[in-house]
Amino acid sequence: MSEEVEMKPCPFCGGEIDDMGKADHPAYFATTQNPTRYAVNCSRCLTMGPFAPSTNGAILAWNARAAPKVKALEWKDFEGMGAKAGAYYQANYMITLWRGRGQFEVSFSYPGHGTGYDGERFHDSLEAAKAAAQADYEARILAALE
Ligand SMILES: [Zn+2]
Repeated sequence: MSEEVEMKPCPFCGGEIDDMGKADHPAYFATTQNPTRYAVNCSRCLTMGPFAPSTNGAILAWNARAAPKVKALEWKDFEGMGAKAGAYYQANYMITLWRGRGQFEVSFSYPGHGTGYDGERFHDSLEAAKAAAQADYEARILAALE
């Protein structure tokens, strides 16, 4: 290898990549179909790639890899009783003000189904409830990505 290219931490888990995490490690490449393809492999979260024809190319491609960002939920007032945001398909997040207890409840629903929300339900402010819903939304979206 001619010159070392500095490698960025993993965009998904923030893990620093050590030598064992490089996919040009012989033990790793012995099992691939094409030994001329290289990729950085995060040994913590197992994110790999993109592939390139050289180790430096693989590192440059890795460094250019951006962590996916999930869009912010777009909240609409829900008849003065809280807020509502469409998540994906027909799923919605709802935030409902419980006037008696002075708290906002987060829920998540599909048509014909009850809530599928397992996070902290009650929050002292609308902003805190929105943040909890956003965190749940991001976790659901990111869970579907490699
Ligand atoms: Zn990682």
